Amino acid sequence: MPDEQLLSVRDLRISYRTGTGEADLVRAASFDVAPGEIVCLVGESGSGKTLTGRAILGLLHHNDRMRVSGSVVFGGRELTGLPDRSLRTVRGSQIAMIFQDPVAALDPVVRVGEQVAEAMARRGRRRGRSRVSGEIADLLRRVGITDPELRMRQFPHEISGGMCQRIGIAIALAGDPGLLVADEPTTALDVTIQAQVLDLIAELRRERGLSVLLITHDMGVAARMADRILVMYAGSIVEEAPAADFFVHAAHPYGLGLIRAVPRIDIDRPGRLSAIPGAVPEARNRPPGCAFHPRCPVRLDLCAEEEPAPLRLGGQLVACHRAADMLTGRLSLWDSEAPVG
Ligand code: SF4
Repeated sequence: MPDEQLLSVRDLRISYRTGTGEADLVRAASFDVAPGEIVCLVGESGSGKTLTGRAILGLLHHNDRMRVSGSVVFGGRELTGLPDRSLRTVRGSQIAMIFQDPVAALDPVVRVGEQVAEAMARRGRRRGRSRVSGEIADLLRRVGITDPELRMRQFPHEISGGMCQRIGIAIALAGDPGLLVADEPTTALDVTIQAQVLDLIAELRRERGLSVLLITHDMGVAARMADRILVMYAGSIVEEAPAADFFVHAAHPYGLGLIRAVPRIDIDRPGRLSAIPGAVPEARNRPPGCAFHPRCPVRLDLCAEEEPAPLRLGGQLVACHRAADMLTGRLSLWDSEAPVG
C-alpha cells in the first residue's frame, strides 16, 4: 500500500441526540484509502456504513440532531469543519457519491441530460452544446444505457429504477472525481447490468487511478472488487484486512460469519446455509463489552464486560479478545462445519 493516502479518516464519531441522551451510531472509525485503491466497507444493514460514507462528504451537517467529530483528510486537506460552500467545491468534482436510492437521488423536475451536464460543469468542463451532448451520450452508453439521446430528454419519473441508478452512476463519474463513494451501487440492478457497472468501476480505476470506497452488504461484490476489506459492526470497524487474506482467513467471528452466510453454487456444501443468529443492535441498546457477544459462537465471559482493543498483525487488524488466537491459528472457525453462530 502506498504511504501517501488519498483519504484518511481518523476517529470518526457520529452520534444522534435522542429524547433521553445521545446514541453513538459510528464509533471512532479510522481507515485510509490509497490512490487507485478499492476499499470495501462491509456489514449488515444498520451497522453504520452509509453514515460513514455520508460523513466523508459532509452530508450530515444539516441534521441538527446529529453530531460528527473526528478528522477526514482528502488529498492533504482537512474537510471536517469546512463550511458548506467550500464542501460544495469538493463534492462531485473531487469526491462523488453514488446513492443507495437511485430515484430519490435525482432531481425529479430536471431532464436527465441536464443533470449529467450540470455534474460535468462542476469540473469546469463547459464546452459547446453539441460536444457536451456527445460526451453525455458516451457516458450514458458506458453505464449500460441504450438509446442515450432519448434518455437525455426524459425526466427521472419516465424511466425505471435500474436505469435511474445507472444515471446516478453516470452523474457521479461526470465530474471525473478522484474518489468515488459508492453506497450499494448495484443493489437495484439485475445481474448483467450489475456486472457491467462493476466492470466499469474497475476499468476507471485502471485507466484513471480512481479510488473507490465501496459500501456493500454483498460479499460477492466485495470479493470481486476489493483490494482491502473493512468490516463494520454496530458502528465500529472490527476487522480490516487485504481482501486476499480476508477471504481465506478472516479472523473476526463476525467477518467469518458474513463470508459463511453467502450461498455458494460452486462448491458442494451439505446441510443448511450458515446464518448469524439475531440482528445488529440498535445504537441506544448497544450491549456492553464486545457488541457482537450476544451473537458470537466463541465468546468468553470477558467479552460481555470489556470492549476489545484492536490488535494488528501484519496487514490484518482485528478487534476481538480472541484475535491473537485467531491470527496465529491457535483457534480457527474455518475448519468447523457448524454454522458460525
Ligand atoms: S470479543 Fe468475544 S464476543 Fe466479541 S467477537 Fe471476539 S470472541 Fe466474540
